[in-house]
Amino acid sequence: PFFKEYLPKNPAVLPELSAKLNANENPYGPSPMAVEAFKNSATGGNRYAWKELFQLVEKIATYEGVESKNIMMGPGSSDLLEKTAMVFFMNGGNVVSADPAYMSLIRVAESVGATWKPVPLKDDWSHDLKAMEEAIDDDTKLVYICNPNNPTGTMTDATELLDFCSRVSEKVPVFVDEAYLWFLEEEDQKSMVDLVKEGKDVIIARTYSKIHGMAGLRVGYVVALEETLGRIQKITRGGMGITLPSVYAAMAAMDDAAFIEKSRTLNAECREYVYKSLDKMGIEYVPSYTSFLIFPIEMQGNDFLEKMTELKVGVRAFQFMGKNWCRVSMGTMDEMKMFTAALSKVLV
Ligand code: PLP
Repeated sequence: PFFKEYLPKNPAVLPELSAKLNANENPYGPSPMAVEAFKNSATGGNRYAWKELFQLVEKIATYEGVESKNIMMGPGSSDLLEKTAMVFFMNGGNVVSADPAYMSLIRVAESVGATWKPVPLKDDWSHDLKAMEEAIDDDTKLVYICNPNNPTGTMTDATELLDFCSRVSEKVPVFVDEAYLWFLEEEDQKSMVDLVKEGKDVIIARTYSKIHGMAGLRVGYVVALEETLGRIQKITRGGMGITLPSVYAAMAAMDDAAFIEKSRTLNAECREYVYKSLDKMGIEYVPSYTSFLIFPIEMQGNDFLEKMTELKVGVRAFQFMGKNWCRVSMGTMDEMKMFTAALSKVLV
């Protein structure tokens, strides 16, 4: 595998940051409606939230156009990625994914005994679906696709992906992580959920952590076939880790269209600002469909992180495709200005 992340020297000592651009969080959220719902429901926290969770599941099922039996909830989608990995790979096998990819499911799969079969992204940063299909063998238990992809912020064409998932899921389940899909304009949000409606063994993960700004409130879900969810939930229950106020916050967040639109618009404005700033510095970047973007750095990753952190700007650094990369999340415009000021000091 080519993928490597540079980690700060001592992650236990988290520095004070003026611009926290290292975790793809929404700088504007949670939505005011979600905060209100969270506060108002806190006094109900002496009770388990099963009834309320079921209301949320119904609401999501209606939104996704599936039945409630096709939804599994988790405290963030991480929980669902990791539970899926534990259940699918507890007897070994391999997971096919792009390289680089979002590593949460893959790392857990490896930890319980699976091997990772990484397939490099193509030159245009899309998934090499042909090579991924060829990489599937008798030991492959799951294919993982993150679209748009993290850490690259890039997209694979929805029509090609639909075709891939539809065909490949006849042999092996395909997990599609759509954490950032909501950052696309509505008409461009081509989810793979329709495949579940057609009875295909595709698992789609979505989260309230990103466009809804609820990373710290922890709500996410997957949409999948009832049998597939049954396989996972036989071993480890969904939904048990979500607090009652978070359930109410998620329901309110779904209704706050104005906040979602604001997040999408301001995120796109910040991306444009960063593109222009990088252009001026003569740095090439990878155009992004998400709330973060990457660009190559002519510097050792740890040195880069250390220097940016000294200037109180938090970013991430990776190595893949033979280069070092910075991944910067879109914060507020003020934070992006701090970022570009720090970058011009560090990279000269
Ligand atoms: N999937 C992707 C692609 C992500 O980037 C993240 C978070 O950064 C997650 C899943 C997990 O987020 P959460 O557990 O907050 O839903």
